[in-house]
Amino acid sequence: MAETTFDRHDITHIVWDWNGTLLNDNHANLAAVNAVCELFGRDPVEMDHWRSVFRRPLIPCYEELLGRAFEDGEWERAEQHYDSSYQQLLSSCELTVGVPDVLHEWARGGGTQSLLSMASHDHLVPLISERGLTAHFTRVDGRRFRTQHDSKAEHLVHHLREQDIDPARVVLIGDIDDDAHAAREAGAHPILVTSGLMSRDRLEATGSLVVDSPVAAVAALRGA
Ligand SMILES: [Mg+2]
Repeated sequence: MAETTFDRHDITHIVWDWNGTLLNDNHANLAAVNAVCELFGRDPVEMDHWRSVFRRPLIPCYEELLGRAFEDGEWERAEQHYDSSYQQLLSSCELTVGVPDVLHEWARGGGTQSLLSMASHDHLVPLISERGLTAHFTRVDGRRFRTQHDSKAEHLVHHLREQDIDPARVVLIGDIDDDAHAAREAGAHPILVTSGLMSRDRLEATGSLVVDSPVAAVAALRGA
């Protein structure tokens, strides 16, 4: 894949990912994955293993993890089990180091920012509010509709169009390869952080700029 190059001076807007990017929820994700493993009789996995296999679309990813295809209704059961396990640990998830200071910093420099997550919209909106973050964002979108390919790409197109933002001026900061794919599909630019659910070598394979954290991502945009 081609190296993503863009002039940081052209960037006026950041679209932030939530899980694994602004929210440090890796342990809750892993616990929920392992709850699904237990439900289907599979041994638990370690974080390094999950970061080496996690991908979208989710169904074939979980089928690979579990070593067999889902039968009718099983994916829905897996999703529900994942969600209830994740919810139990959600209150123990802290914002990633440097958040929300990094949001203030980007705004101080004149930039705007919004939030786009693949978590369900109804789940996401109260979370952002409870953490006192809503005012930072021009728009907060979770997954509002289902798409054939289970990618963030169509959601990003919708998210930017609703705000009348030129994608060429946008950087999407996220933690998985689908964030890079979505940015490119929408005509925006990706920066990927290694703090989330995908290993550095897999992120670098996308040809995107890869940094350690949201703070480092904004520093790169500021030329620091
Ligand atoms: Mg994420």
